[in-house]
Amino acid sequence: MMKFFEIAPFVHIQYAYDIEKILYKSRSEFQDILVFENPYFGKILVLDGIVQLTERDEFFYHEMLAHVVLYAHPNPKKVVVIGGGDGGTVREVLKHDTIEKVYFVEIDEEVIKTSRQFFPQVACSIDDRRVEIKCMDGAEFIKECGHDIDAVIVDSTDPIGFAKSLFTEEFFRSISNCLKDDGFFVTHSESLLLHKEIVRETQEVLGQVFPVVDCYATPIATYPGNWWTFAVGSKSLNPREMKRKCEIETRYYDDEIHSHVFVPEGLYKKLMSGKLKW
Ligand code: SAM
Repeated sequence: MMKFFEIAPFVHIQYAYDIEKILYKSRSEFQDILVFENPYFGKILVLDGIVQLTERDEFFYHEMLAHVVLYAHPNPKKVVVIGGGDGGTVREVLKHDTIEKVYFVEIDEEVIKTSRQFFPQVACSIDDRRVEIKCMDGAEFIKECGHDIDAVIVDSTDPIGFAKSLFTEEFFRSISNCLKDDGFFVTHSESLLLHKEIVRETQEVLGQVFPVVDCYATPIATYPGNWWTFAVGSKSLNPREMKRKCEIETRYYDDEIHSHVFVPEGLYKKLMSGKLKW
């Protein structure tokens, strides 16, 4: 069987996937786009040689990215999703019936088109009337989006190339400006196993902007290092405390997961003081 080799961007490791069938291959203005079928994971979306999602396990990532901060908020109405061109995060955000508006800011329109065609269960909520699609750089959008946002969720590619603008102090400051006083920011921040320096740096830079900063982690089979982290910045509320009970349909996230997902205090201290021994 043909193989696809993913080269993990920050470590000298390659992951190999059997290719049952190549379904789509093209180059957009921004990146290479590939969709192939794997016997275990089903359809897989790859951008610039990096696996973005698989049909089989995408819900772990999308649920954990969206619901932790949205349930730590008492009444999220206006949300910005940056990146996430496949639509998975937008689908999860719209499960909250408090939501009135989602700005969906994806730089590459071709990713949205590809997901509509090959991942309809992931892209299924993109056409909801509450969603406004903006095809532009998220860092530019956030500079001018007002001051009444309840949550900003970054669902970008790894912090390299044009996604780098989404991991800077300047960007985090613009986010803080557009959030309400009880607003939340969340972004993925790579693996605690393979990229602990990136995890720490993201926490540090966020800490220069937000009074409350935290980190949670969840296992994801298809991202290098698997123990995948999410960085939260909050203007006042504690992301560990749920403000509402989870009553939506999910496959992984629930109240109990929320209470266990944050990095324990001792481990967090070691991470931040550079004392993690791996
Ligand atoms: N879950 C995935 C992961 O972590 O591997 C991310 C999936 S989603 C497809 C990532 C999207 O972020 C891509 O479609 C990419 O075009 C978009 N993106 C990257 N940088 C961006 C930026 N500066 N502004 C808006 N969208 C961006």
